[in-house]
Parts: sequence; C-alpha cells; structure tokens
Amino acid sequence: MTEADEVFMKKTDKSHVQYSEIEDLYDRFKNGEVILGVGEEVQKLINDLSDDKLDYSNNTVIDMIIKKVLDKCEDEKLKSILENSKIADIENAETKGRAYPKYFDGSYYIEIDRNYMKRILLLSDYLATVNMLCEQDLIFEKNKVNIEGLGKIPILKSFYSLFIARFLDICLDRFLKNEEFTNDYNEILMKLMAFEKEYGTKISDMFVDRSNNIYEAAIAMFVGHEIGHHYYRHTDEKIKEAEIKRLEDTYRVDSIKAHQFFEYNADAYGTGFAVEYMRSQYTEKTNTVLIHQMVGIFIPMMIMMFDADDLFDDEKKHPALIKRFLRIKKSLESRTDEETIEEVMYYVYYLFDVLGIRKKVSQLGV
Ligand SMILES: [Zn+2]
Repeated sequence: MTEADEVFMKKTDKSHVQYSEIEDLYDRFKNGEVILGVGEEVQKLINDLSDDKLDYSNNTVIDMIIKKVLDKCEDEKLKSILENSKIADIENAETKGRAYPKYFDGSYYIEIDRNYMKRILLLSDYLATVNMLCEQDLIFEKNKVNIEGLGKIPILKSFYSLFIARFLDICLDRFLKNEEFTNDYNEILMKLMAFEKEYGTKISDMFVDRSNNIYEAAIAMFVGHEIGHHYYRHTDEKIKEAEIKRLEDTYRVDSIKAHQFFEYNADAYGTGFAVEYMRSQYTEKTNTVLIHQMVGIFIPMMIMMFDADDLFDDEKKHPALIKRFLRIKKSLESRTDEETIEEVMYYVYYLFDVLGIRKKVSQLGV
C-alpha cells in the first residue's frame, strides 16, 4: 500500500496526526508564542479535521482550492476529476508531486511532498514582503493615524521601510534555511506587534493576506500540474501508450521526448488552473495583487531552478527547467495582457537575482 493509499484509506488516522499538529499550534498561539495565527479560523480548522469534513485532501489549502474551482467549473471532464480527486500531502515523498495511475475505484490520486509545500510557503512569505516594500506609498497613504494632540498624521515612512526591509531579509533567511520559525523571525514578530499597538496599523494582517494570496496561486499551479496529468489521461496507461505512439509517428520523436511533451502540457494546464482559480477567487482585488499572484505561479518552478545545478539539461522524462520556465511564461502570456506580464516578469527576475538563478541563466540573456 502506498502512502497515498494509507492517507485516504485510513483518513481519520492521518487527519488526526495533522489535527494534533494544529492543536499544538493553537496552544502556542494562545500562549503568545505564535503570533500570526488567527484564533477563530484555527479553531474551525481543528473542528473540521476532527469531524472529517475535509473532502478532497488532507491539506486545507488544497481542499479549499478544489472546492472553489468546483464552484464555478463548467468543464465536465475537470469537474469529474476534481470531484473524485484524493490529494495527499505527505512527509518525505519521493518526488515533489506525483499523479498516480488511474485507480479502479474511480479516484484520482495525487501525492504532494509536504516539505516542498513548506518551501513554497516560505518563498511566498518572502515575495509578500517584497510586495509590501514596493507598495509602501500605498501603505503610507492609507495608514494615517490619530495621535492625541497632533490629529491625523501619517506614520514615518522611513521607519516603515526599514522595518519591512529587515522583515524581508529575515524571510529570505527563512527560505534559505528552510525553517519557519527562526529566532530573528520570532523577534521581529514581537516588534511588529509593538509597532502595531503603537501606530494602530495592520501590517501583520497585510502580510498574511499577501502571502496567502501568493501561496494559493503557487499551490494551485503545483497541484494543477498534477491534475493536468490526469486531465490529459497521462495516468491512464493504455491511452498514454497510444499517445506516445502517435507522437513518435507524427513528430518522429522517441518515447523520452514524448514524455517531455506531457510535462509541457501539464505545466500549461497548471498555469491555466491557477489563473482560473485566482480569477474566481479575487475578482474584487486590485490588479497589483493579481500581479503578485501571477508571480506566485512561478514559485514552484523557481524553487526547482534554485536547487538545480544545470537548467539546460533535459532530465530523462522531464525537459530542461529553462524550457519549462519559458513555456510557463508563454502560457501565462496567452492568458493576460502585455503590460501585466511585463510587470510580473520584473518581480520574477528580481527573485531570479536574489536566488542566484539569473547567474545560471545568463547565457540565455533572459
Ligand atoms: Zn509532471
């Protein structure tokens, strides 16, 4: 029995592992050790998990994404896949993500590596701080506070900038160390609390909100890629073999190249899935948030590029990362306007710089 089987066949057991983790987090939140928790929501989560109310995944974010997409889904094929999807977020998965061969019970199994999800979260946090620093004028404008004797005054811009700049460094450090609660991070959260108390601002809310938006987009892309493998029936052996034969005959490519086509298709599907999710979810938000969510779509790929020594080598069934990156960009271009994509790429290439990816791709001149 694979771990994905286990998670879903003994759903309660595994849910309760996560349940105890969250309960622990909730206790720490109550004791003031964790600041960025939202009491009521965490409590609700605990109840949902203990009542086995989660339908498609043992991961609440993935579960929410599936539900939201299903809400507005007009594609019957996708609908039936999503309704029967079972997505397991597991410890120490062999690969970052995997769509299992179609099961006899009609379920579509997908396995996701929990550690990779964490890295996506940490990079989303970092991108959220970059976003907040870039939009400081907006925040500055919106955060005039009432101080007795002085009336309504804006908070010190330089103070805010320095604060966020420090926050930004700390978030990058968390990603590089792959550690959620570093000492520096705990410390700055305390300072943030003091700052908020004094000035009545909502920086932590904004941070959580931005990071969630980015994280959700990244996860929708990541999970959407695996859903894409099911959608194109790469997980149905007979159909897959027939498709490989067709590609071999039509394009005179070998079986490895044919598999690489599948990855491109899955990437394009994931991109579309993420864009649709964002559109259904955040229509009332500003365009700037949308841009950062679009940057979020690149996050799973960026982590792979960060890890890789060589971006130009095809790796068996997976095409070179640089090729996949360019295809994702192309696929996003077809779904938005030129101005938006240009803005998105500013941030993507900024992250390339920070993560040392630009050096690896410099020969391409991107
Ligand atoms: Zn794939």
